[in-house]
Amino acid sequence: MIPAAFEYLRADTVEEALAALAELGDEAKLMAGGHSLLPMMKLRLAFPATVVDLGRLAELCYQRLDGDEVAIGALTRHCELVSSPLLAREVPLLPHVAARVGDRQIRHRGTIGGSLAHADPAADLPVAVRALGGTIVVRGPDGERHIDVADFFVDYFETALAPDEMLVEIRVPRCGAQGWAYQRFARRSHDWAIVAAATVGGRVALANMANVPTRATATERALASGASIEQAAALAADGTEPSADGHADAEYRRHLARLLTRRALESAAA
Ligand SMILES: Cc1cc2nc3c(=O)[nH]c(=O)nc-3n(C[C@H](O)[C@H](O)[C@H](O)COP(=O)(O)OP(=O)(O)OC[C@H]3O[C@@H](n4cnc5c(N)ncnc54)[C@H](O)[C@@H]3O)c2cc1C
Repeated sequence: MIPAAFEYLRADTVEEALAALAELGDEAKLMAGGHSLLPMMKLRLAFPATVVDLGRLAELCYQRLDGDEVAIGALTRHCELVSSPLLAREVPLLPHVAARVGDRQIRHRGTIGGSLAHADPAADLPVAVRALGGTIVVRGPDGERHIDVADFFVDYFETALAPDEMLVEIRVPRCGAQGWAYQRFARRSHDWAIVAAATVGGRVALANMANVPTRATATERALASGASIEQAAALAADGTEPSADGHADAEYRRHLARLLTRRALESAAA
């Protein structure tokens, strides 16, 4: 469990991090909380020649209102999402979901930007952001671009980020009084979700039902055309492609998707 040798570079500004990426290309890896990157390096699934440490980039630790959206800096740690009064008021789904990530130590190191960039289909924050919608702001050598959340997750552990780009901000719509809920099923409370369902304002997103966090579009369409929660939730697994592993086979995951979607929709409507 010892990673391959690597150079360590600490970035004190976003510009320094981008300059390192421009110079080193895909030989370099950004490190935010390190709670996904370092395990990957120890397992020799990642072996960057240089690790660029973003951990002290205070300029990317914020949550603020911007018109109808809430902007969240990429280096905001899970525990800061949990304790933010602004998020509790404007986007309560996010702090609720962040409080369910791993254990206390993980929530004190892991960042929302790292979780989205890592793009694990079982992760909690990506599915919450997929349900909320909004945009992912990335910066690279040609400046800034905004990527719709629907286009950000490309494949298993793969996003629309180019190797010389950095995720700097997440922008989600303010939820107001919209009903929301999150249901996750795991063997133990701090385990990764086997399946999870997030809902807000009639949108439903599922974790671990495909290579990327995915929307339960058949359920959403049924709800919009007046179906009952029970009828709509029964369609939650339609069009999904869950994998099978040691935790669950594909049919059990489909069952969980339907069950958790129903519970989430009932809770959001209560
Ligand atoms: C024991 C354990 C249990 C866990 N349980 C859960 C769980 O239940 N649910 C859950 O959702 N997560 C869980 N996690 C993952 C945790 O939430 C991670 O912290 C998170 O996925 C990655 O965030 P990070 O800041 O640590 O990213 P890092 O590990 O630093 O980086 C992850 C990847 O993202 C890239 N990256 C990081 N920041 C940026 C950026 N700003 N721009 C571009 N690329 C970037 C890195 O290069 C790397 O490829 C767990 C982790 C551990 C170790």
